[in-house]
Amino acid sequence: MEEKQVKKRRIVLIPVPAQGHVTPIMQLGKALYLKGFSITVVQTQYNRVSSSQDFSDFHFLTIPDSLTDSDLHSLGALPFILKLNQVCEESFKHCFSKLVQEQGDDEIVCVVYDEYMYFSQAAAMAFQIPSVVFSTTSATAFVCRSVLSKVNAESFLLDMKDSQTQEKVFPGLDPLRYKDLPTSAFGPLESIIKLYYNAVNIQTASAVIINSASCLESSSLAWLQQKLQVPVYPIGPLHRAASASSSLLEEDRSCIKWLDKQKPSSVIYISLGSLALMQIKDMLEMAWGLSNSNVPFLWVIRPGSIPGSEWTESLPEEFHKLISERGYIVKWAPQMEVLRHPAVGGFWSHCGWNSTLESIGEGVPMICRPFTGDQRVNARYLESVWRIGVLLEGELDKRAVESSVKRLTVDEEGADMRKRAIELKEKLEASARNGGSSYSSLDNFVNSLTTP
Ligand code: UDP
Repeated sequence: MEEKQVKKRRIVLIPVPAQGHVTPIMQLGKALYLKGFSITVVQTQYNRVSSSQDFSDFHFLTIPDSLTDSDLHSLGALPFILKLNQVCEESFKHCFSKLVQEQGDDEIVCVVYDEYMYFSQAAAMAFQIPSVVFSTTSATAFVCRSVLSKVNAESFLLDMKDSQTQEKVFPGLDPLRYKDLPTSAFGPLESIIKLYYNAVNIQTASAVIINSASCLESSSLAWLQQKLQVPVYPIGPLHRAASASSSLLEEDRSCIKWLDKQKPSSVIYISLGSLALMQIKDMLEMAWGLSNSNVPFLWVIRPGSIPGSEWTESLPEEFHKLISERGYIVKWAPQMEVLRHPAVGGFWSHCGWNSTLESIGEGVPMICRPFTGDQRVNARYLESVWRIGVLLEGELDKRAVESSVKRLTVDEEGADMRKRAIELKEKLEASARNGGSSYSSLDNFVNSLTTP
């Protein structure tokens, strides 16, 4: 009897070329691969992910974009993304049409694109292939972007200039204040609103996947479900569903050996993610605050993150001495392994959504020092909704640094936060297990692709 050819199903992923976006979309790819799909990753020339062992069965394609780091620095991150959308639309159409023509037995069932790579919709629509939005931020930040995409830029700017208004809760977004909204230091407000409008105005997408869980953000998820009029699948935290390494920078694993020598829950881990910049003056206040706190620290200082300084040369000689006694500095850490390490008692973070999920996922309370965008939303939630974070606002000075580090790692208040963080970790673990909400949500998404 002639054997019937079984068609495989392929999903095409489109990441934003930045660490905080690449990591979760590659984890999503891994989770879908484990469900039986073939995966093609179409990436920009700029900041390409190199294929690692974790993705050896993935198919990688590159589209030209002719953009460089100097474009990123001169334009700012958000106008850069707007530009990327302009320059990639045609090249993606070309690449996608070849993919469709050559698909053979690997039928393309959908395109999953990062919310900010909305140029992908046009090509998917031209071939009548469903497109799905993937949001790498919290559901609450998505809600904020939806709200901001509709504000009048001029009057909003006026509101934001008023220091009293900044402290007020934004109507309908309690407990977020005006100053917590994801406006960004990465570009002018008009560009931000335009980008948000393009991103959240999902037009032809047939579903939205969010890297979050209902135990963290049930009301924001319900809001989205009601407003977006397409299914919303909260399937996070993805690092629990499918861990996979997609670091764009080389991880320095020597810090794990250093952590092995420290007492349980004694160390504060400090990292500001892949994009945040810090002024030299703030770095010095941090250094002296850490010094005065007497708390051991592991500090990631990313080369290039301190304008005017290559790496650590601006730190005073005495501080370098202290590092050899009580601290360790690396350029880039294996963050998930660090957070999982029993010696780590707290995380000083810029509160990027991945770092936030990774910290909650390990039950580690945080010092929240947001810089821009959705980090402020996450920081406010960490402080006042989940109550597992100390929010450090305003001018950074060494006394505030010392007192927040002690509050988190030494004081009773920190111990209470740790308890709550562990409770949340357990809830997240339960949601990612068979029968849990994120686990079922991923199954529902997969079923939606297989049943017509
Ligand atoms: N990260 C890392 N090593 C570091 C610092 C960060 O592996 O030394 C990873 C971290 O685990 C997270 C990502 O980089 O997955 C940062 O993403 P996030 O959303 O927190 O912030 P962003 O970089 O987008 O500002």
